[in-house]
Amino acid sequence: MLPVIALVGRPNVGKSTLFNYLTRSREALVADMPGLTRDRQYGRVKHGIRPCLVVDTGGIADDAEGIESFSRKQVQVALEEADVVLFMVDAREGLSASDKAIAETLRKMAKPIILVTNKIDGLDAAIAASDFYSLALGEPSQIAASHGRGVPELLERVNQLL
Ligand code: GDP
Ligand code: MG
Repeated sequence: MLPVIALVGRPNVGKSTLFNYLTRSREALVADMPGLTRDRQYGRVKHGIRPCLVVDTGGIADDAEGIESFSRKQVQVALEEADVVLFMVDAREGLSASDKAIAETLRKMAKPIILVTNKIDGLDAAIAASDFYSLALGEPSQIAASHGRGVPELLERVNQLL
């Protein structure tokens, strides 16, 4: 079994965009509509680190469910399957109550977590990150998934945890 990287985070933070970038596929549906990815998506990471799988947990959100149930299910998947969890947040929108709820659940699990601030294109990186230190998940990896910016550095961190 290959190591598994799980992408966790509230809808619309860019999980599917990062999935597509990492796998160079269009398997995960990217859209402005939150929760559009219906099923869990798995793919092989094609970026020069050791062979591993990435799972886009976005599809386990049910539109009718609240964020608590959503995050619980995401975390469940991450717990069961992941070797490393990438907890993605939206640097443009800043810290949200949903982010805090997910962080709270993630913190309880014994898996390595990397906080990933996405959509930093056009933002001041230091200011974009500052909001998220209160999550107490350490230094965020700052990326723009749609451009691939910061992804090599992120993968290097992942590699060190595998
Ligand atoms: P998901 O719901 O977490 O899977 O989020 P998606 O991958 O579907 O992305 C939600 C929206 O954010 C889409 O409109 C993406 O194009 C946009 N997006 C994703 N990554 C970036 C990024 O790095 N920069 C910017 N500006 N937009 C992004
Ligand atoms: Mg998605």
